[in-house]
Amino acid sequence: MHPDLEAIRALDAEDEQVRNLAAALAKAQALEPDATAKVAAAKAALAAAQAALDAVRAAERASKRDTEQYEQRRTGAIRALEMGQGDPAAAERQLAQVTVILDDLETRQLELMEEAELKVATLAKAKQVLADAETALAAAQSAAPGQVRALAEQHHVALARRTAVAQTLRAEILNHYELVYLRKGRALSKLDRSGACPRCNTYPAAAMVAEARRGVTLLVCGGCHRWLDVTVG
Ligand SMILES: [Zn+2]
Repeated sequence: MHPDLEAIRALDAEDEQVRNLAAALAKAQALEPDATAKVAAAKAALAAAQAALDAVRAAERASKRDTEQYEQRRTGAIRALEMGQGDPAAAERQLAQVTVILDDLETRQLELMEEAELKVATLAKAKQVLADAETALAAAQSAAPGQVRALAEQHHVALARRTAVAQTLRAEILNHYELVYLRKGRALSKLDRSGACPRCNTYPAAAMVAEARRGVTLLVCGGCHRWLDVTVG
């Protein structure tokens, strides 16, 4: 293998470590804020579920009051008929009207009961979600500082190692590496089985690849300007 390619491959591997650790560190740092946000959302959902249930309960009470009132009217109308008081035809009419209204009220009460059952279930679920979110937050709060510290330390070590490996590259190689790395995230691309640069789908000339494989030359991709790792396997 060309000695420069060996050094570039080593630096590329170090950069991958640094990237992975930076991502893990960012994730660990976000753990607690994420868990806090989830608890806040669960609390809001619980409050909404409670308000929805309260509204149904209030409707149930109102409907019950209406029913009681109409039942009194019905009792009054029946009594008037029995006692032969007032206009019997008017009492009959009132009785018929009140009976229709009471039927509707009964249907409404049943609907409200079903609705209340659903709201009670939603409320119970919301309570469970909140309990789970609070457990997750407690876990994040106790784990996060240690985890963040450990990852920050590993990231620091990886960066130092990266700097050391970078110093093994020849200056012009390192300059090109840093430039491409900065622009494209990676400065090395490994030829795929078909002989193409998988980053940009450019095919270098077979003769140039063969020469690079013998370690004679260092191959740069004509498409994306990354170095090409020509090693097989
Ligand atoms: Zn390319």
